[in-house]
Amino acid sequence: MPLDFEASVLEAPPRDCGLCPRLAAYRAANAAENPDWFNAPVPSFGALSARLLIVGMAPGVRGANRTGRPFTGDFAGVLLYETLIKFGLAEGSYGADPSDGVVLRDCRISNAVRCVPPANLPEPAEVATCNRFLGAEMAAMPRLAVVLSLGVLSHAAVLRANGLPVSRLRFRHGEVHTLPDGLKLVNSYHVSRYNTSTKRLSTQMFEDVVVRVRALLAP
Ligand code: SF4
Repeated sequence: MPLDFEASVLEAPPRDCGLCPRLAAYRAANAAENPDWFNAPVPSFGALSARLLIVGMAPGVRGANRTGRPFTGDFAGVLLYETLIKFGLAEGSYGADPSDGVVLRDCRISNAVRCVPPANLPEPAEVATCNRFLGAEMAAMPRLAVVLSLGVLSHAAVLRANGLPVSRLRFRHGEVHTLPDGLKLVNSYHVSRYNTSTKRLSTQMFEDVVVRVRALLAP
C-alpha cells in the first residue's frame, strides 16, 4: 500500500467542520472579511511516511489561516522553516507562501488545533475536541518515531492523543521524553514572535533542539 495515500487512511476535518462553534464562527467572520484567505481547518503539510511530526498550537490568523499551509505567512514560519532547511529536514527557500516550493524531508507539520482561534488562544474544550484529528494524524503515520511539540499546549495535546494523562510528563524546553510505545516526544518553546522577541527562545536554542531531533532520527 502506498504510504502517502492520505485520502484512504487519514481522518481530516472537513472545510466546514463545526465541532467547535466559537472557532467555526470566527472562521466565518474571517471569510466574510477576507474571502480570498484560506479560512478553514488547515491541513497538515508533508508526507505521512515521515518519521518526524512537528506539532504547533493553532493557525495564526494572518499566517496559516490566510495561506492554508501550517506556519506559513507569519513570523513563526521564518524560524521554523529556515531551521528545518538548515538541518536537512526541508529543501528549498522559504517564501512565506505555499507556492514557495519548500519540500519537507522525513518531516510533517501539523497543529494541535486546526482552526484559527480568536486572540491566538484556543479554549481547553477546543483543544480536546480537535484532538481526535491529531490522534488520527499520528495513527496514519506508519513510520512515526519522533514528535516535536512546540509549546506546552502542543505537548499536552500529543500526550492526550496518545491516551496519556497530561500530568504524566512535564513540558520542559529541550527535554526528550519516551512514551510507553517508544515514541520520542521532544519539547521546544513555540517559535512565535512573542517567544523570540522576549528571548525566551533564541535561534540557537531552537537549532539545538532540531539537532537533537536529527540525532534521534539517525539510523
Ligand atoms: S478546531 Fe478542529 S474540531 Fe474544532 S472546528 Fe476546527 S477542525 Fe473542527
